[in-house]
Amino acid sequence: MQDWIVKIAGLRFDHPFSLMIPYSKQDLTDRDISEVTRVLKSDLITQGPEVQLFEDALKAEFSVGHAVACSSGTAALHLSYAALGVDSQSIGIVPAITFSATANAFRYLGAQVRFCDINPQTGLICLESLESILGELPVADAPCPGIITPVSFAGLIAPLSSVQKLADSIGFKTVEDASHSPGAFSSSGAPLERSCSSIHTEAACVSFHPVKHICCGEGGVVLTNNQKLATIARHLRSHGIERPNDDNHETPWYYQQNELGWNYRLTDIQSALGRSQLERLADQLKLRRKIAGRYEKALREYPFNESLMAPPLEEGHSWHLYIIRFKEPTMRDKAHKYLKSEGILTQVHYVPLYRHPYYENMYGKIRLPGAEKFYQSCLSIPMFPNLSEKDQDHVINSLKHFCLNS
Ligand SMILES: *Cc1c(COP(=O)(O)O)cnc(C)c1O
Repeated sequence: MQDWIVKIAGLRFDHPFSLMIPYSKQDLTDRDISEVTRVLKSDLITQGPEVQLFEDALKAEFSVGHAVACSSGTAALHLSYAALGVDSQSIGIVPAITFSATANAFRYLGAQVRFCDINPQTGLICLESLESILGELPVADAPCPGIITPVSFAGLIAPLSSVQKLADSIGFKTVEDASHSPGAFSSSGAPLERSCSSIHTEAACVSFHPVKHICCGEGGVVLTNNQKLATIARHLRSHGIERPNDDNHETPWYYQQNELGWNYRLTDIQSALGRSQLERLADQLKLRRKIAGRYEKALREYPFNESLMAPPLEEGHSWHLYIIRFKEPTMRDKAHKYLKSEGILTQVHYVPLYRHPYYENMYGKIRLPGAEKFYQSCLSIPMFPNLSEKDQDHVINSLKHFCLNS
């Protein structure tokens, strides 16, 4: 292969990329590609019939009333928060371990961000920490609207109804960041909860970035049962412009902008790809769950159990990420390096948001114990549907070699 240097997310790998095993990767079929070319050969490639078809398919898949497709998962969060009325008087509460977008979308609207600790066993929002943050808010004039965004992290569904109960007690609303969790559900406890269903939240936001379950190149969706929220999000997705949807209107050319929105439209090209991908979601989830089962079986045994912990094997986990945790913090960094020398690219999900200079400059130095513990020890190893058994075994054997020799 060519010894080109591939740039990904600002990192430079000087290996031929095709020989490395990434931590995650899209799975595109000939059908996906022919769907894209079908649209490219048609008359309308941005605002034709495909967006609506994709939205209809998403509504059916996740059994929700409304789907507003948009240009990214970040845009979906921004649109949801804006449609719920978030402004510079608002407070947005996010788990400290998540991707920047969960919090940044609050900042786009001038809202204040509060970081909630996480449970280091699961990576999910810690309810005790949430309770204490809510307890410190001035009750008399609770900032309205306040939003809590539980993240169904790595594919493990967040405790949505418990978060909602706490939110209700202070008049806050909840939005699920479901970027990692299409198809996830809670396999224990009642009521049965489903990610993306918007039953226990005002909305759920999904990302269609290539490392996620459904790939559009870039893309996202707001899923909600709240009609008003959907209408506003749809409006803001296209500049806040409204036009008469009626050819018999006396001035059918007329349109007006009622408020300040954005261009967050998804294209027909991306929608066709997304719809084709969505049809395979169930099969892809099976493959992810099978890989998690194989990893778990291997990692339960010596020498792994001496040095690391495997993630909880929940039936309803959608396995966007497979995150192992090292008992000894220094081992994580060494493992990352060793695995790379074996052609295996791993990643850390995530640096706690409060550690980023942008947030530290604004809110000062914060260190939350659960988030710190998770951050120091976590490593995401390869997990994607078309990861071959040969490559899975290479990951397991390389990790084994590492554990036996360090
Ligand atoms: C990927 C991701 C997003 C943002 O999605 P984009 O489509 O990349 O904008 C938001 N939150 C989490 C937790 C994510 O992993």
